[in-house]
Amino acid sequence: MSSLRRNIIIRLNLLLAFAQRKDLNQLSNGQWEKLRKDLVYVIYHRKDVTADDRYFMKIGAILDAQRHLVSAINNLKDVGVAHLHLNQQGVIIATVKGKPFSYRYQPDDLSTALNGSLAYLLDKARITREELLECANPTCQFPYLAPKTIRKRVVDYDEKEPPPSMRSGRIFVPIRKPAKSKRAYCSTACARVVAVRDYRDRLRSDAQKYERAKEKERKRGKQRYRKKILKK
Ligand SMILES: [Zn+2]
Repeated sequence: MSSLRRNIIIRLNLLLAFAQRKDLNQLSNGQWEKLRKDLVYVIYHRKDVTADDRYFMKIGAILDAQRHLVSAINNLKDVGVAHLHLNQQGVIIATVKGKPFSYRYQPDDLSTALNGSLAYLLDKARITREELLECANPTCQFPYLAPKTIRKRVVDYDEKEPPPSMRSGRIFVPIRKPAKSKRAYCSTACARVVAVRDYRDRLRSDAQKYERAKEKERKRGKQRYRKKILKK
């Protein structure tokens, strides 16, 4: 894969992850700053956050932008269509000596900037709807649920498709296409959670097998003993 396309998909995933965050009402100042850094990278492909960026990305503007994006992303995955609104914006055309002209839209508000970025990044990434995957970790978006609720969720999840707002896994685009048989995860954190859970389940089922084998052996022992007694 070209490094350009890789970069586009990384930015697209940052935007998808932002849109689906459920913790915006409890972020620390440091986390807000980290989020602004991600959004600056999504929109401008730039790593440092300036005072102007902070002014452009006030908390209220971030919350407002997220509200519009999250349903659009669910719609893109579920039906393949989303309608997002753009407010006023300008276009900056520029060139440096010897290079072709290029342009960039300059939106007046963050929601327009992020809606435009979603359209731009999806277009540049050249992905199909089928490549918008859902993370296979059933507690991906609800990491703090109690184990009992998690199990119930997993059962529910197997029985019927959850409604879009209750999607248990985040929507993301894999950098590399996963093998058909393999489950895909939105992050290494989710992959690790499932690996640990599977390992514990395996240990538990091994322990149960061991108990059953011991029980069988005990019964067999009793029968042998009875036969011995009867012979006498
Ligand atoms: Zn996940």
